[in-house]
Amino acid sequence: MRLVNGSRVMIVGGGPAGSFSALHLLRFAGQAGLKLEISIFEARDFSQPGPGGCNKCAGILSSTLVEHLASLDLALPHNVVQAELDAYILHLEQGELLIRRPDPARRIVSVYRGSGPRLGRAPYPQSFDGWLLEQAQARGVRLRRERVRAIRAGLRPMVVTARHELEAELVIVATGVNSRAPLEHAWGYRPPRTETMAQDEILLPGGLQGSHAHIFFDPPGGLIFGALIPKGPYANISLLGHRLPPEAVAEFIEGHNLSTLSPQGTPVLCGCTPRVAVSASRGYYHDRMVAVGDAAVTRLYKDGIGAAYLTAEAAARTAILRGIGRADFARSYRPACRRIVRDNTYGRLLFRLWALNRRSAFLVDAWRRAVLQESRLPPAEQIHRRVLWGMFTGDDSYRRMFWLSWSRAALAGLLQGAYAARTAG
Ligand SMILES: Cc1cc2nc3c(=O)[nH]c(=O)nc-3n(C[C@H](O)[C@H](O)[C@H](O)COP(=O)(O)OP(=O)(O)OC[C@H]3O[C@@H](n4cnc5c(N)ncnc54)[C@H](O)[C@@H]3O)c2cc1C
Repeated sequence: MRLVNGSRVMIVGGGPAGSFSALHLLRFAGQAGLKLEISIFEARDFSQPGPGGCNKCAGILSSTLVEHLASLDLALPHNVVQAELDAYILHLEQGELLIRRPDPARRIVSVYRGSGPRLGRAPYPQSFDGWLLEQAQARGVRLRRERVRAIRAGLRPMVVTARHELEAELVIVATGVNSRAPLEHAWGYRPPRTETMAQDEILLPGGLQGSHAHIFFDPPGGLIFGALIPKGPYANISLLGHRLPPEAVAEFIEGHNLSTLSPQGTPVLCGCTPRVAVSASRGYYHDRMVAVGDAAVTRLYKDGIGAAYLTAEAAARTAILRGIGRADFARSYRPACRRIVRDNTYGRLLFRLWALNRRSAFLVDAWRRAVLQESRLPPAEQIHRRVLWGMFTGDDSYRRMFWLSWSRAALAGLLQGAYAARTAG
């Protein structure tokens, strides 16, 4: 089963995974001398401020993703970038920890997925998703502003909208996890497990630097961590946790005294409770169908847009270079997804270790001192800082961070930190 000149590829969903799929297909097809008819179905208008125009996330682009964009001949325009992040500040009971970007050459930026907060003011920021979709359109991809109601199975997949029933040679499902993938039961697709997060936007509190992101821990109960991410005149609040209460953002703002940082208090400007995928989906490929991005598999709590890029690339490479049958995707696409799943296992272990560590004030203090002591070392030897930077930005694999945190240097640093904590206590 192969794509040929004139084959119709229909991509359902115009978030990052959908646009990256189109761009990768064009790249590989161009190299293979193949001309395809590619359409993206996306009803969302990314130029609208607020949740209606937004795919709801913290909007941090890892440096790996920023570098990957170049392989698609894309460069992030200045008006899409809301902030260049050069440091994270961890707020612990024992004090603050400043973690600077370990390698200044590796750029981490924040973007808006839509056009800023619902109650934001003009000039509205340029949406990252909207910009990416425009890049695909500029290269000949057809955007259909329609929501897909069903994808029917058969000899050829059938894409059904309110107005059309269209046959495709290949359907790429890039619908994320915040709406139901419209695949008929016959495809055997089972979506990933998800958890509900909480987000809002505020004006960047006075006195906070526009290039530093902030990480906080409880309150509210159930929080794994909460991030405050600068975006131009605003700051995004993203809370990752288990079973967060409905008033999580208000508790977070009050609990961390954020409302005292600005004379006008901290009115919230947007508000949403998006879902994040915490497992891979099942049945994510079939004859003439492949799911990408969150609808297939993503990185645990991190760099979901980077994972969308990787899965889209692997699916497009398979479709052009190998074929569009189930066996082709099993042989050539599945391994790329399994790599992400395996890496997430290390991520889960790291988050569990961190949760255990936080139960003991002594351990947190020992670890904090280990991080502080590292500031005397050259950046390459600042193991704890590199692990923290990687965990909060998604800029490195969980596997590498896991083994780094068990390295001899990291454990020796922790022992020294424990000694210092005991002496001080
Ligand atoms: C709280 C939170 C914070 C996050 N922070 C980050 C971060 O800082 N950095 C990062 O890289 N990732 C982050 N993520 C993850 C990131 O949001 C996702 O991994 C990423 O959006 C996945 O892209 P996608 O294209 O697969 O799905 P989505 O971005 O969800 O896009 C899916 C698209 O499909 C469209 N669609 C859905 N159904 C249909 C249909 N039937 N017909 C037509 N179109 C349809 C939708 O309108 C949407 O545009 C975060 C997630 C959450 C929940």
